[in-house]
Amino acid sequence: MGRLGFLSRLFGGGSRPGGSDNGIYIRVKCDACGEIVQARVNPTSELSQADEGGYYVRKVLVGRQCFRPIEVQLRYSDLGRTEIGREVKGGTSVE
Ligand SMILES: [Zn+2]
Repeated sequence: MGRLGFLSRLFGGGSRPGGSDNGIYIRVKCDACGEIVQARVNPTSELSQADEGGYYVRKVLVGRQCFRPIEVQLRYSDLGRTEIGREVKGGTSVE
């Protein structure tokens, strides 16, 4: 019994509950080929302060099918991932 507990701690302890990942996941659809491309935004390291207040991040996503860049600009009112604006060039916002 003690041995089993040791093993499960060794191999089972690595997975963190979903809530501890504070990344923001965005998904866009490529206009050219229809591929859904997902990106992760780390709010603590990737957001920049916008002149007009709030925060923004700019990402260029490239899918695996046609390699066309999709430019995404996201705006947040604070660091708590409250999204207030989204601009997608070369693709369509999915979620
Ligand atoms: Zn594409």
